[in-house]
Amino acid sequence: MFIGIDDTDSREGMCTTYLASRIYHRFRKTASDFPWLVRLNPNIAYKTRGNGAVVVEMLTPPSMDAKTMERLPDGEYYAAYGEIIDYTIDLVSNLSMVSEETNPGIVFSRRKIPETLYRAALYREISMDEVRSLLDRYGARFYAMGNGRGLIGASAAISWPGKRHTYEVMNYFYPHGRHRTLADKIKIAGEADLHECTFDSVDRANRRPAIFPRERTPVVYGIRGTDPVALKNIAEGLNRRHSIESEMITVFKTNQGTDDHIVADPEAVEELGSYALKCMVSESPHPTTGGHYFFHAICNGRIIKFAAFEPTKEFRSVVRKLVPGDEIVGYGSYIDSTINLERLTMEASASVYTRRAPACKLCGKPMSNRGAHDFRCISCGTADNLPSFSGVERSIEEGDYEVPVAARRHLSMPLVLSRNGE
Ligand code: ATP
Repeated sequence: MFIGIDDTDSREGMCTTYLASRIYHRFRKTASDFPWLVRLNPNIAYKTRGNGAVVVEMLTPPSMDAKTMERLPDGEYYAAYGEIIDYTIDLVSNLSMVSEETNPGIVFSRRKIPETLYRAALYREISMDEVRSLLDRYGARFYAMGNGRGLIGASAAISWPGKRHTYEVMNYFYPHGRHRTLADKIKIAGEADLHECTFDSVDRANRRPAIFPRERTPVVYGIRGTDPVALKNIAEGLNRRHSIESEMITVFKTNQGTDDHIVADPEAVEELGSYALKCMVSESPHPTTGGHYFFHAICNGRIIKFAAFEPTKEFRSVVRKLVPGDEIVGYGSYIDSTINLERLTMEASASVYTRRAPACKLCGKPMSNRGAHDFRCISCGTADNLPSFSGVERSIEEGDYEVPVAARRHLSMPLVLSRNGE
């Protein structure tokens, strides 16, 4: 049975992954290897932070045998998980931060919900009706609080196929960890970063210890990586060396760092979708107040606006170097008719020339520029009307460029992972 949970937290506290961890550890003997942390459309207005939903998959309870379970009608099947279902509902009801913006949803589903829901939840906004009819069709049981919007994320997370995945180890302490200085956090995150299997742990240039949450929640830190066993050891080591408080440690299997939100070469570009667009720059990037950079490019015959916003920091110095004619692939979400760049590939850089007055054909001395096509030799007075062009060396090479860790979205694949073919 899959247990999907979403929308239990507000900016005041709690984290849905904490509730999943409590359920996972409480029923460890029945739970599958890892709970899941599934990130959905990063552009949804209702999200609190990273639009993450969680799933704990329960295997056959130790007191039952799998064949008998399979044959049970739905009513008896769910009754066999009665203790787990009751515990989950109680936990979510007691610990959720219910407010106007928090609308918890729990889904208990015997069957895997089809992947189409996961894809749709990454690319666009889903309605409650869509989800409720799907849950009815799949015979799922559900429990909702407030307006029940959490059912959308909870169901979509159950439909995650999980083939492309990474892991994140979370260290928890309820209601929240103790205060640490920025320097301490950077030191701890820096240690996590030393291990080859971890990614996006720290952004030293921008002084951002990315393993620590920005707000205080029961998550003391979360380290992303590719090796679940190594991640758990790293967390235990950090806790020991730095006397970090720990109520429990949980390794989640997750779709973070997979680029699952990106649709490559789409037929249409729609609001809230995220894309990889092959295009040609048609206008040099220009800065606006606030330090954002904007430019236009032609993609499949259509002019698209691109932006590198101020939080993307040093990535803007790459974008600034683009010129008309550059062939790029721009990655990012389409919000307010603008692609918010999170990565770009320079596929073929345009040749750039400077125009200057030519050398005199008669005496070889430099000519002076007297008008658009009027050059005179300063020495012998010879006239010419053709300028001379010379190639300018470009300061941007072909290759991949990404925003720094401080600006990275959960779903975006860091270049270290794409180079390793993860
Ligand atoms: P955190 O990252 O701290 O767990 P969050 O950013 O995940 O918080 P939630 O509080 O879970 O934010 O709120 C997200 C809400 O958006 C949930 O109710 C979820 O069901 C809903 N939601 C997620 N994806 C979609 C979608 N594609 N269409 C419509 N609603 C969605």
